[in-house]
Parts: sequence; structure tokens; C-alpha cells
Amino acid sequence: MEDGVPGCFSFLRRRPAAAAVPAPPQPAQHPHTHYTPPDALCIGSCDFPLPASEGGELDWNWNWSWNGHQPGSPGAAPPPKYSPGQGHAYAFDEAATATVEETIERISAELRVLSLKIHDHPELAFQEKYAHDVLTEFMESHGFEVTRHYLGLETAWLATVTVRSGGRTLGFNSEMDSLPGIGHACGHNLIAIGGVAAAIGVATALKKHNLPGTVSLIGTPAEEGGGGKIILLEKGAYDGFAACLMIHPGPGPARSTGVGSSLAIERIEAEFAGHTAHASAAPWEGRNALDAAFVSYSAISALRQQVKPTHRIHGVVQGKDWAANIIPDYAKMTYIIRAPTYTEVEALAPRLKACFEAGAHATATKVTFGAPTTMYDLFQNGALIAEYRRVCEGRYGMSVSTAQEGAIGGSTDFGNVSYAVPGLHPAFAIPTVQNGGNHTRLFADAAGTKEAHEATLFAAKGIALAGLRVLLDKEFADQVMQDFKAGKPQ
Ligand SMILES: [Zn+2]
Ligand SMILES: [Zn+2]
Repeated sequence: MEDGVPGCFSFLRRRPAAAAVPAPPQPAQHPHTHYTPPDALCIGSCDFPLPASEGGELDWNWNWSWNGHQPGSPGAAPPPKYSPGQGHAYAFDEAATATVEETIERISAELRVLSLKIHDHPELAFQEKYAHDVLTEFMESHGFEVTRHYLGLETAWLATVTVRSGGRTLGFNSEMDSLPGIGHACGHNLIAIGGVAAAIGVATALKKHNLPGTVSLIGTPAEEGGGGKIILLEKGAYDGFAACLMIHPGPGPARSTGVGSSLAIERIEAEFAGHTAHASAAPWEGRNALDAAFVSYSAISALRQQVKPTHRIHGVVQGKDWAANIIPDYAKMTYIIRAPTYTEVEALAPRLKACFEAGAHATATKVTFGAPTTMYDLFQNGALIAEYRRVCEGRYGMSVSTAQEGAIGGSTDFGNVSYAVPGLHPAFAIPTVQNGGNHTRLFADAAGTKEAHEATLFAAKGIALAGLRVLLDKEFADQVMQDFKAGKPQ
């Protein structure tokens, strides 16, 4: 990321592939049974033993290897086939569930075309004009009321369907932006069609079965560094949502999906102003801004020894008009701090600022701070996790990781959304090659494959059905809100 604020996240961890899929049979439930949180779900401590990251690397590049072979290597096993797995093992409402699934399957070929259009026409943050146009056109053609250039953001959009009155509002998000020079290397074309699939699936079920509710799909610009969702959130785009869901691809074992958290992040810019002087003839007349940066750099290195292993402090020094025979009068430090929770980031920020102030104090220069950019950690809603998990395991034979521990990865602007309304942001695995995780050209290739498309539709069905229950089951919706109000489990 050129601007130093990476978006996205990753928490699909390498672990043994799920045994030949069958998940424990789940009893079918009557649509009007009371919501009971499943006791198998463990939030806050991982109920899957996860091996430590190999080589201490961040977990972006934990790759999906097919039976131990890399795709294309001699003797490689064929790509895994996604199938309905257990089929119909769990559904809150069989009829509405069947409609969601059949609808998504029926439009799969159209979604594939849409996905490849976006994939083959990558656009950077806030420039997603082509994606904006093809996605809004698609939603309109499927009966949604569309608002283009939503809330004054040129590439944001809203697509809505309401059936009857008095129902709850369910939100989905479609990201669209790509990365500089490496195209759709974060697979946002898949996120885009995942949101489209879920929204059309649920809207079709509401219409067909005359069930009350509103489905709102927001096209969200600029996840990769621009914080588009934060702007939309501040403009009220998520007001009144009973829940909001989206999916994100990453590497990982076949048929796996994860609902762990991501890191909270704050970007801090410090600029030092000094005074130039001849470096030999009159250095005592100068005030050295570069020295201020070096003192700060050393102080930060010391600080790093006294923070938790789950915290990150990283950054760069930049300058202008520097020469060896001039005392530099300007230096800029751009730093990023990350931690598992926003609270921890907020506690760390003053300690970092103190390092910059120490540099300025020692060199008699002045330091000024730019407005910080902050993304919250992901607050995954417990009840939504439970429902998504039961759908993905019970109906599709997927393995669902709820790993909260050691989820060191990136960050996402959906974190802020998840603290404003109940949210769910699962990661799901697509086939990748070695060293071909998110933000690589190899991942852009992976995001265009048919296998990635098929994996996307299963994850999309997962959020569609978890979301559908928010609309259909008041007790479940109440539980979702109760979990949200109780705050994030620590
Ligand atoms: Zn991403
Ligand atoms: Zn990304």
C-alpha cells in the first residue's frame, strides 16, 4: 500500500483439512422455534487447536495446498469440488432457504460474467466507476431500487428491495477496489458478487414467500486505504440496519471459512520543522529535523520492547531537499500502530506520540501531527457467527474457524461498521498457490478462477441465510442485538 494504510485482513489459518466433510447432523428447526445459542460455539477462546504461524510471518500467505501438492505440480491432485455437502442438514426456514439457494445457483453464470468484468477492469480506491456502473445496472435488472453515487460518494451505491412494511432491514456490502499495479489481488471482485448474490437471494425469498423485510446492498468504495465505509458510516448509510454482513476471500484449506477478528489500526503522521544552516560553517544556527526523526526512531524502537507481542508499530521516515552540507529543516514520519482491539490502539497512540515529542524536544524542533486515520478491529457478532456456522457446516460441509487468538493480519474499514451495527465479516478460502496470498499478483489470478467463484457462492449463501434469519426470526434478531450491546468478548 503506497499510502501505508493497508486494508483487508486475514485469519484463515493453516490446519488439517476438514475430514471428508460430514458435519454432525443438525436437527432441522421449525421456523418459529425459539432461538437458542448453540453451546458448541466458543467465542473468545479458540475451540480449534491452531498451529503457530510458520516462520513468524503474518498469516497472509498460508496457502491452500491440494492434498499436499501445489496446483499444476506433477502429480497434483485435482482441484476440490464444492458440492452441497450435507445438503439440507440445517435450515431455519426450509422453504425460504431453498429459494435463497436456488436463486443464487440460478444466477451463478450471470454472477461469473459480472465478477470477471470487474476482475478484468481493475480500478483503484474511489475510482471504481466501471464497477459502480455494471453493479448498479445488474441490481436494477434484478428488481432492486438503485441509488447511484450514494451519499455524495461518486462510486458508492445502494440497492434496496422492501417487501411488505414493518420488517427489519438487512444490510450487505460489496467492495469493488483493486490494488496499484497488481489488479484484483485482494479478490474484491468476489466480494462484490458475494454481496450481490446474498442480496438477490434474500430479496427473492422475501418476495416469493411474502415475508416482511428490507434488503439493502451497499456498494462500498475504497477499502484499500481509503476507508470508504467509514465515510459512508458517518453519513448515515448504516442507520437502522438490524445487521450487516459481507465476505472476504483469502488463502486457506479447501472448504474453510473463518470468523475471527482483525486488527484495529491507527495511522499517525508527525512532521518536524527545523531550521537550515551551513552544516560546517554555522551548524549551531541550525535546528535539525532529520535528527529529530532519528531520535524519535530510536525512542520508538525502545517502546517496541515494552508492548505486547500482538501489537505492531511500523513506519517510515520521509524528507525533502536534503543534502549532506545543509542542516535539514524538514522530516516526516508516517507510522502505523495495530493491536487486537481499538482500546489497545488508543492506549498505544499517546506512547507513540511521546516518542515524536521526545525527538522534537531533544533537537529544539517543532512537531505537528496530522489527523489520525483509524480503523476498528472487527467485532463479529456472536449470534450471527453461530447461525453462519450452522449453515456452512450443516448445509455445505465447510469447516468454520472461530479463531480469535493470534489473528495477526491486516485491518478493514468494516471494523468500524461492526461497532456501529451488528456485523459479520467471514473470510473464506479460495485456491491459491505458494506465496500467492492476498496482495500478490498470484492472488489476482486466483480471484479469477472458476473454483474461487464456486467458493464465493457458498460463503455468500452462508451470509444470506444467516441474514435471512435476522429478518424472519424476531427472537434471533433480538439475540443479535443483545450480543452487539453486550460488547466484544475480550
Ligand atoms: Zn481486501
Ligand atoms: Zn486487501
